[in-house]
Amino acid sequence: MRMILFGAPGSGKGTQAEKLKERFGVAHFSTGVMLREHIDSGTKLGALAKSYVDNGNLVPDDVIIGMIEEAIQTPESANGFILDGFPRSLPQAEALDKMLSIRNATLDAAVSLVVDDNELVRRLMGRGRADDNKETIERRVQVFHEQTKPALAYYANKGIVKEADGMGTPNEVFERILALLS
Ligand code: AMP
Repeated sequence: MRMILFGAPGSGKGTQAEKLKERFGVAHFSTGVMLREHIDSGTKLGALAKSYVDNGNLVPDDVIIGMIEEAIQTPESANGFILDGFPRSLPQAEALDKMLSIRNATLDAAVSLVVDDNELVRRLMGRGRADDNKETIERRVQVFHEQTKPALAYYANKGIVKEADGMGTPNEVFERILALLS
């Protein structure tokens, strides 16, 4: 099973991806988590990414695309994978398509988690991550609308997007996603 999870910051992508990973026995890759690990351990990639992440901007596409291309080739991806936070721009979506087509692979689903703006801000403010301050949150929501929505539209055109109501408890949302996938 190969799927991507879309959703604004705070929509619950990471939480749902973990549950899906357990259920389907696939790998889970979060580009946000990968970038924070690079930043925390002081790698070259982390140093390059830091100012983008701190300001809520997208890290350059080539950096992110390289990271994902490596990840989907690892043995843990053999049964499939859930991508959380990637693709986040149209060039990233197109690059993913290329990576999959040269491997004769396709995506099974693109799930879009939909959560009210007020609830998004409430969740993010309660989370306490370094980039969860008011200014950065506003920028990340803007980036989502300007750069990530075109990637979502790209998959909608292919007819593989399933919208899940992301309001409610993690288990309620998980059940809705499972129903969409069945
Ligand atoms: P997240 O944990 O998904 O909210 O991502 C945190 C931050 O990492 C984002 O605000 C971006 O700065 C960066 N980031 C994560 N995924 C991507 C991506 N696919 N493309 C570019 N930047 C990303």
